[in-house]
Amino acid sequence: MSKKPEKETFVTEITPRSQDFSRWYLDVVRRAELADYSPVKGFMVIRPYGYAIWELIQKALDTRIKATGHVNAYFPLFIPESLLNKEAEHVEGFAPQVAYVTHGGGEELEEKLVVRPTSEAIIGTMYAKWVQSWRDLPILINQWANVVRWEKVTRPFLRTTEFLWQEGHTAHETEAEAEDETLKILHLYKDVLETEMAVPVVEGRKSDSEKFAGALRTYSIEALMGDGRALQAGTSHNLGQNFAKVFDIKFQARDKSVQYVHGTSWGVSTRMIGGVIMTHGDEGGLILPPRIAPYQVVIVPISRGNWKETVLPKAQAIRDDLTARGVRVMLDDRDTQTPGWKYNEWELRGVPLRLEIGPKDIEKSQVVLARRDTREKSFVPMEGLTAKVEEMLGTIQTALYDRAIQYRAEHTTEADTYAEFREIMDGRPGFVISPWCGSAKCEADIKAETQATIRNIPFTSKPATGKKCLKCDAPATTHAWFAKSY
Ligand SMILES: [Zn+2]
Repeated sequence: MSKKPEKETFVTEITPRSQDFSRWYLDVVRRAELADYSPVKGFMVIRPYGYAIWELIQKALDTRIKATGHVNAYFPLFIPESLLNKEAEHVEGFAPQVAYVTHGGGEELEEKLVVRPTSEAIIGTMYAKWVQSWRDLPILINQWANVVRWEKVTRPFLRTTEFLWQEGHTAHETEAEAEDETLKILHLYKDVLETEMAVPVVEGRKSDSEKFAGALRTYSIEALMGDGRALQAGTSHNLGQNFAKVFDIKFQARDKSVQYVHGTSWGVSTRMIGGVIMTHGDEGGLILPPRIAPYQVVIVPISRGNWKETVLPKAQAIRDDLTARGVRVMLDDRDTQTPGWKYNEWELRGVPLRLEIGPKDIEKSQVVLARRDTREKSFVPMEGLTAKVEEMLGTIQTALYDRAIQYRAEHTTEADTYAEFREIMDGRPGFVISPWCGSAKCEADIKAETQATIRNIPFTSKPATGKKCLKCDAPATTHAWFAKSY
């Protein structure tokens, strides 16, 4: 075998994506310095670069959450066990994953405390105190928090025992209002995923067996990852009056009758970062959509001759111009590394645009711009550079979204028979749209035999009139989207 070119020896630190997607993912997380393993198994440390992505996502979400009339608050990390136990379905759903605190202040506690796996129980308890009249409604509260769900198998961002998220909890006068709220938030999540993260998602309703423990209806957004597996990127639940009855959240209605509120809850988490990695990344590592990239542009000065006197001041001036326009810039002026090493490093870490500038470029009053997504390089005149950079960042953001849409289209198949369905799931997976009778047994059998689950039933799903269920031959009631999932 011939000697590998220099370029390739740089990237051997990452397992080829085409060879082992799962290994590739872990390598990217580690080498891009997004997260690291903690001394406690199943927990991750989010490193500054990864946390900066989270902060950008948070900001985009928080702005939208507030713009739709919600406010932020904070509830305690610990929940008395008896509160969690109040709602039977809810406790059953979470019991295997709950972590307990049994001692505090050197003494055994009278009542065990639960580390919140989600906050319906404690928030519902507080709402019961705060709501008396229809005038107190709606309550539209969001919380940014960490939660703990004990996991046997973990993977950074995708599934960790502790994770960061936002959880919204609202209370309304009527079921229609609660349903509106549930869907409004689902659409808000779709907008954030698609506009900010360039991750296309399918909105739809979860089947009963996949819905949130204790909810009336659960809706989700589902994205398709680069290995053909789906990722549930967010959920929004219409809780009906179920939690209100358990936690006694009552109010005097406009007609003076006493009624229970209608609740919703909804959340998205750090898991979305895993979704970004697996949607856009390539053999060279991470690719970040500009809108959530901690550095949108990396400037690499070509360190030749007296570059610190000639090239560096120009590079600094460009950085200052871009920064003044709100572009997030990293000027990599380290003299301990070669430009080639820096190119590779920032490609691996997913910076959308690289700006190269050397003595010859200064003579010609130009720079080189290299796109991370397509690896295209172009010479760009110094004059009007800032506007050109902004334009290219917009182009990259759109191109990533379009590429993901195209990938999803190529990996979405319709299958009316179980034989076809199985063949697809065994071969090149993705979404498979199939007619389904609505029975939980068929759903469970399909899962057991193929590992594929119903991701959701999209709002735009075609009617299944005249079709038979893919599993049992009974008349189908709907088309469901199936996939193997994370
Ligand atoms: Zn069936």
